[in-house]
Amino acid sequence: MLVEYDVIVIGAGAAGLMCSIEAGKRGKNVLLIEHTSKIAEKIRISGGGRCNFTNLYSDNNNFISTNRHFFKSALVKYNQNDFINLVKKYDIEFYEKKLGQLFCKNSAKDIIDMLISECNKQQVIIQLDTSIKKITKNDEGYFIKTNIGDFVSKSVVIASGGLSIPKIGATDFGYNIAKQFNLNVTNLSPALVPLTFKDDILEFCKSLAGVSINASVSINKTKFEEGLVFTHRGISGPSILQISSYWKEGKSISINLLPEHHIDIILRDRRNKSPKKNINNILSDFLPSRLALAICNKLQINKKIGEISNDALFQISDFIHNWTIIPNGTEGYKTAEVTLGGIDTDEISSSTMECKKHPGLYFIGEVLDVTGHLGGHNFQWAWSSGFVAGQNV
Ligand SMILES: Cc1cc2nc3c(=O)[nH]c(=O)nc-3n(C[C@H](O)[C@H](O)[C@H](O)COP(=O)(O)OP(=O)(O)OC[C@H]3O[C@@H](n4cnc5c(N)ncnc54)[C@H](O)[C@@H]3O)c2cc1C
Repeated sequence: MLVEYDVIVIGAGAAGLMCSIEAGKRGKNVLLIEHTSKIAEKIRISGGGRCNFTNLYSDNNNFISTNRHFFKSALVKYNQNDFINLVKKYDIEFYEKKLGQLFCKNSAKDIIDMLISECNKQQVIIQLDTSIKKITKNDEGYFIKTNIGDFVSKSVVIASGGLSIPKIGATDFGYNIAKQFNLNVTNLSPALVPLTFKDDILEFCKSLAGVSINASVSINKTKFEEGLVFTHRGISGPSILQISSYWKEGKSISINLLPEHHIDIILRDRRNKSPKKNINNILSDFLPSRLALAICNKLQINKKIGEISNDALFQISDFIHNWTIIPNGTEGYKTAEVTLGGIDTDEISSSTMECKKHPGLYFIGEVLDVTGHLGGHNFQWAWSSGFVAGQNV
């Protein structure tokens, strides 16, 4: 039997839920299909279980896309305040952790429950454990063959997300549908992901595993100043996750390990005032002592500051303020928070999220070539793009 719906949304994540709710509000009967047994697993694990659901300062500068203008209109139509108002309507307690990042006080489950409750209000039919075997199109609409039956609709929304964390349900479904319908997909790579190293840099990082500092990390003019943590595989922490979205294989990154000070000025001053003090102890006044010692050992300059030449002082200061290293890779999709790249936005109308070549076919959320910075911007994109599609399906 073939069952008809006004709208079929594929993927019960952040974007799919938002789109279903908005379409439902417009009186559409909506089927939301999810291939796993759970709704919005990524929301559940996000923000360390507390879901950084948006950012007070989210704006166009927080998004990466081949087309720098594509995301603007959706972010205006549904912005962070719209989502915050929804959260407030449900009396969900939240707080600003830092830099405008809003987190649930209790649990990410509060956001999932809110979205499910909104879906229920709009009588959205949610079908879990449903795998799609085939999608075809003819004059009557899009035919969807699944393990639980066949469906038809004039509007199909692909909200199947990116490739990160396959063990909780991420698939390449959206990209395959794009290829089936002859849509361009840009290069895909893991982003918001720890960086890995080899040889002596790896050994250096390993010896410091667990040490964390505030650092400024840059690639050309793109710079992020936030936490950095050394790991057994390389480096991680917010500043590294942010820069990973801009890093390309073979390219170097520059790290200022002490952005709030000028260590060269400090060292020259200390050389005059306390020449008998060991350089390692002086650096430990500004950096974690394990890191201070590791730098001195690496540069083979571990002696009294009074005995240190100008050249050696320069080496130390250059290492601390301009540590330039080439990652050998990233930790990949198993730990990446998002996928960089996606369905080419030139294929999609920015005001409706509808595919230009195939009326009735929509793409929203992370599956598109729009990637947010760390800090709640990726969910904001899911809400905004889901909202816009929901107004137009
Ligand atoms: C560990 C982690 C923490 C994160 N924390 C944050 C955070 O705090 N703040 C933030 O802004 N962003 C965060 N993100 C990013 C954010 O979760 C995503 O950008 C966002 O969930 C994307 O929404 P989406 O709806 O496009 O995709 P998703 O939320 O991934 O939803 C896609 C849905 O489609 C389903 N699906 C996939 N293939 C199929 C198929 N073939 N058939 C049917 N269903 C399918 C999936 O199972 C999933 O339910 C985090 C990501 C990770 C991995």
